[in-house]
Amino acid sequence: MASGGDRRAQRLRLLPPYLFKEIDRAREAARAHGVDIIDLGVGDPDLPTAPHIVARLQQAAENPARHRYPSYEGMLAFRQAVAGWYRTRFGVELDPEREVVALIGSKEGIAHAALAFLDPGDAALVPSPGYPVYNIGTLFAGAEPVFMPLLAANGFLPDLDAIPREGLRRARLMWLNYPNNPTGAVADLDFYRRVADFAREHDLLVCSDLAYSEMAYGGLRPPSFLQVPGAKEICIEFHSLSKTYCMTGWRIGFAVGNAEAVAALGGVKSNVDSGAFEAVQEAATLALTADQGTVERMRQTYGERAEVLYRGLTSLGLKLARPQATFYAWVEVPRGFDSASFARHLLEKAGIVCTPGNGFGAPGEGYVRFTFTVPVPRIEEAVARIKQVL
Ligand SMILES: *Cc1c(COP(=O)(O)O)cnc(C)c1O
Repeated sequence: MASGGDRRAQRLRLLPPYLFKEIDRAREAARAHGVDIIDLGVGDPDLPTAPHIVARLQQAAENPARHRYPSYEGMLAFRQAVAGWYRTRFGVELDPEREVVALIGSKEGIAHAALAFLDPGDAALVPSPGYPVYNIGTLFAGAEPVFMPLLAANGFLPDLDAIPREGLRRARLMWLNYPNNPTGAVADLDFYRRVADFAREHDLLVCSDLAYSEMAYGGLRPPSFLQVPGAKEICIEFHSLSKTYCMTGWRIGFAVGNAEAVAALGGVKSNVDSGAFEAVQEAATLALTADQGTVERMRQTYGERAEVLYRGLTSLGLKLARPQATFYAWVEVPRGFDSASFARHLLEKAGIVCTPGNGFGAPGEGYVRFTFTVPVPRIEEAVARIKQVL
């Protein structure tokens, strides 16, 4: 073959190396040897979807009207439910016809946003460490990521003044993700106001990933970027039922905000996919409009775990901010280790899986991410095991 045996397109060959390969292999080897692994690595809720949502899917799946191709922009009833949820939760008014599009999970929309808004030669401002899809979507579109380091000194918010001018000149959009994966940091409206001014000045589309807005503790209610006055002119925001309603496997989310941006994303989707299964949209509509008691119980469960993990790790002398949101703890590795060697140490000596921070981008070096998707007794067991090997 002319390609020397590798038929893959450049966009696949250019993918950053998968840094979790070694730890994945070591975890599987330990499992195969019968080690009782405590997996604090995966960002997938362990709680089931609420029964009323499952029942609605079962019912909707029996309706032949739901078996046909969906409309690419999503059912109107679903988009109305999204608009109603935004009004109740954030006080933001959305036109369900023009300012809401259904997604097959928000990851789909995040990846396709790059195709909607970036040309080769353009740049995108991408937080680092960060959810890998912002970077990879940018690369797939033939554009260039300009990384914004998220550092403890700035509360894991990007330093707008530190963005390189040359990259900023070519940048068409900025990714933001608060509450943040992997750092657990939260942004307030003041920060969003500053970003809005910055985006206007530099002609940027703000792409806000709000996947964790409902996963916050101690009464904290993280804001939407769209609460900034006039934000709809410059922002598209992504949300998902995955974390809020423990529905990661269902693949349903949505994008809202600027009507032209929503239409552009819909334009990509109409040529690539044919929308989300309408029975899933019907169940998701119920999730958004029914009593939100299960969301409160989800918050209590993760909030309690966050506290147990925080107190436990702090008592061992490890350094981390108290997790206020998300199901992640972003922990400094102790002296003498780097991200990879500490993760390997915990796996080999304590049977604990965590994620090396540098896998989310170079500024994540020196950290590991713990996910609290296991019950409190397992978290206590994990802390006890870590104590033995520090
Ligand atoms: C989990 C997660 C999502 C949600 O992805 P879905 O495709 O909706 O399941 C989006 N953004 C971030 C940062 C996440 O961690």
